[in-house]
Amino acid sequence: MCLRKPVQCIIPPHMLKNIAEKGKPGQSDKALMTLVSTEQLRGRRTGLTNVAAMFPAAATGRGKYRVVYSANNGMSLPGMPIRKEGESPVADHAANEAYEGSGHTYDLFHQVYGRNSIDGKGSILDSTVHYQDSYDNAFWDGQQMVYGDGDEDLPVGDRIFNRFTTSVDVIGHELTHGVIQNGSRLMYWGQSGALNESFADVFGILVRQYRDRQPARTSDWLIGAGIFTGNIRAKGLRSMIEPGNAYEDPMLGRDPQPGHMSAFVNTTTDNAGVHINSGIPNRAFCMAALELGGYAWEKAGRVWYEAMDGRLAEVATFQEAADMTIKISGEMFGSGSLEQQAITNGWKAVGIYYSGKAPKPAAPKSGGCLGTFLSFAAIVRGNR
Ligand SMILES: [Zn+2]
Repeated sequence: MCLRKPVQCIIPPHMLKNIAEKGKPGQSDKALMTLVSTEQLRGRRTGLTNVAAMFPAAATGRGKYRVVYSANNGMSLPGMPIRKEGESPVADHAANEAYEGSGHTYDLFHQVYGRNSIDGKGSILDSTVHYQDSYDNAFWDGQQMVYGDGDEDLPVGDRIFNRFTTSVDVIGHELTHGVIQNGSRLMYWGQSGALNESFADVFGILVRQYRDRQPARTSDWLIGAGIFTGNIRAKGLRSMIEPGNAYEDPMLGRDPQPGHMSAFVNTTTDNAGVHINSGIPNRAFCMAALELGGYAWEKAGRVWYEAMDGRLAEVATFQEAADMTIKISGEMFGSGSLEQQAITNGWKAVGIYYSGKAPKPAAPKSGGCLGTFLSFAAIVRGNR
């Protein structure tokens, strides 16, 4: 398994396992199929080699450029192009939602943080909709976004998931995995993996807040609020403000996220809890943003962006992320500033205290999965 360029899915494995165990036959079969096909994807690098040939002027080095494809319920990526930058909406709702959502994500990163697309160099934002037949997931595959249609094939009363393009914070979340891949490259395992997930949630919610020009205090701080149907007792996939309280449902079970270090979950499943312990740094960001007031993307978001964009080591811990964001807020707003105090308090609220030490510097970037393996080996050695 490559821990630096994993296939990063929005629906965590524990949720699909619960559905496979407790769902009706149609629901259970689909959850199992999604689990199996996601496993098959891991390690497989899908190619976009034809994109530059199809749209040569748009390959890199320009501004916002989106291309949406349809896999036509197959597995071949990227599929057939159905809408590209500047074209009018098409009859396909999922295609239009993917187009708009990737545009809102581009706008946040470009207009607020001055970043030109995922790689900072104007890379095309590619999205594929209608992946497989009613696939119950959405993922960043290391190069592009891919969306399933959810449970549109099941009887209305049995549907669990809506189509995955309905939630702009899900789109923002997945594309942020691409930004991280080009920035701090947080390894997708344990605490650094949970930080990877948390940064994706932070910028996922910021994409929605920025689109709606919504202040921190009025946000619901939910990731994936629209992806469950009314058949499921869920507010969303994750609650950044109340980790552990996004859902409680007979089929899904209870949201397993902790919101404090005292409840940190030690597990080897889910890449050692990347979608579980991310609740802790999520809540730290939320508390800091609420104390700062105003728009969360302006101050807290700017600090988190800087940390994500290459300041953190690939194997950063929660403590190092806290120390780094507190350090960055001192550089941006002044040592002892209200901003630095708010961010210090955010981490304190989840049981992480500023160590006063200089955080470990980011490691020089090494290529591909071999570099990740070596970093992982270093962690294992360090843990002995
Ligand atoms: Zn993710």
